[in-house]
Amino acid sequence: MGKTLGVLLFILLITFGCSSNSPVIQEKPEDSNMKNHSVGNTSEVDEAEEKAEEVKKDEQRQGINELALEVSGKVYGDSSQFSEYVSGVKTRMDTKEKVISLTLDACGGEFGSGYDEKLISFLIENNIKADLFVNARWIDAQYEAFLELSQNPLFTIQNHGTKHKPLSTSPRSAWGIASTSTKEEIIGEIMDNQLKIYDITGTIPKYFRSGTAFYDEISVQIAEDLGVQIVNFDVIGDGGATFTKQEVVQEMLKAQPGSIIILHMNQPESETAEGVKEAVASLIEQGFSFVHLQDYELE
Ligand SMILES: [Zn+2]
Repeated sequence: MGKTLGVLLFILLITFGCSSNSPVIQEKPEDSNMKNHSVGNTSEVDEAEEKAEEVKKDEQRQGINELALEVSGKVYGDSSQFSEYVSGVKTRMDTKEKVISLTLDACGGEFGSGYDEKLISFLIENNIKADLFVNARWIDAQYEAFLELSQNPLFTIQNHGTKHKPLSTSPRSAWGIASTSTKEEIIGEIMDNQLKIYDITGTIPKYFRSGTAFYDEISVQIAEDLGVQIVNFDVIGDGGATFTKQEVVQEMLKAQPGSIIILHMNQPESETAEGVKEAVASLIEQGFSFVHLQDYELE
């Protein structure tokens, strides 16, 4: 009897150990001592697993903070350019395959905290992948929706900034929005939301897009040093959610193999969803499929 339970426990330990990647569980001596244990001690395993998960999270959190500190001590040069397409900004996937990335921004703020459920439901019902670029203010406004989206494998969560500012090392503005103006502000704009997303989802975003998608070259370098790639687009799908359905369709159909399309998921009153439905159907007919950025090299 003891032996059977022992084997069962051993399997449990291996299973949990693998799924959480936690060496702590496998090495813990009490847990591998199989005598006198009943099946009820699964909770002990759960507890150990939770603890290992916490330790791992603390280490990752510390890593994010250390990276921010390291970059804040670095010296950078001056920037002369400020645009959506400065050197280092990624705008396409490096592939000839007929694949497209749909990137959906969720900007947050007073006029940008809605949730376009029609758009998301369409993607889910048709099994269409997308990368979601989410701002910290949107997460606060739509916490439940965010949590649900982050758990759906059709979507990845990426970073759309903390206060939704253009990134610059000196004061500038884009679309009437004031930029960051110091290295410290740039670090905060990227890393505060990086940490927030990690704390909620357990995954550190790989990609960053600023509010307005404007940058100077130094801020792109700083972002890379902070471990994120700056991802913009080669197709403007909905013009900040201002396009009519027909305009959305017309623009999205300009996509080429490897294109990155920018759209918005935070303006439910817009015609974005209707346009996306028609354009996606048409692109699928043309042989395109929709993929995640992380599965390709970006250029
Ligand atoms: Zn935005």
